Amino acid sequence: MDERMVWPELQQRLSQVAAQLGVPLETAGEVDAEPIYRLRFGQGARVLLAAGIHGEEPGGVAGCLAFLESEAAHWSRSVQFDVWPCLNPFGYIRGLRHNGRDVDPNRQFRNPEDPLSSLMWAQLKDQRFDFGLDLHEDSDFTGFYIYETTEQGPWFRRRVRDAMARVGPVCEWADDPTVRRGLVPRGRSAAPLRERFQQRRLWPLAFLLFELSGHAMTIETPVLQPLAVRSRLQVTAVNTALELVLRQKTGFS
Ligand SMILES: [Zn+2]
Repeated sequence: MDERMVWPELQQRLSQVAAQLGVPLETAGEVDAEPIYRLRFGQGARVLLAAGIHGEEPGGVAGCLAFLESEAAHWSRSVQFDVWPCLNPFGYIRGLRHNGRDVDPNRQFRNPEDPLSSLMWAQLKDQRFDFGLDLHEDSDFTGFYIYETTEQGPWFRRRVRDAMARVGPVCEWADDPTVRRGLVPRGRSAAPLRERFQQRRLWPLAFLLFELSGHAMTIETPVLQPLAVRSRLQVTAVNTALELVLRQKTGFS
């Protein structure tokens, strides 16, 4: 069942929440003749939050909106947000993974010809963030999982997983042997990550987030669960990650 909020309602609610937060709903640019929205607000630790790169995975967008509507005002006293709530509106409107040029937008972040990638790099390349978060989904799983890359640590994913596990089902070994209790295991060492990225041609959004922050996390909620559960999982992930960002910033652990 397709439970996606229709695009005009999403646009309207983004406008409303921007007004509540006292900032404009910016249009960073257009891709496939649709607006790429951006909201900037708050002060403190710098966090880049993105959702909706794959149109058939609407839970990230729903979670991002729910976070903006119910949580963001509180966090804005200690966090400076840069939020891109729906990166593939063409796909979102149609329930499609791909963009209007029928390519996977989550593999284009090293392609200078790609309009979304070019737009984001142009507007973000001189910025530095403390943390980057991709609110993503996985179409095939019944449980959530988390992918994290960090240059220097500390890793957030176990605590984020434990908080999310109180809200919805965790992806187990049986779903995918590369996932262990909701976590994609890290490589042996975090230090050579940038080097590894440099050798790859197809960059996902996670690489852009990592480049800009040195610490990126991708939340994959399971499309096979009801949208309301996935949205709650996403909000829980964001809240927990933000607590950890602030703890790290202020030296508590
Ligand atoms: Zn995806």
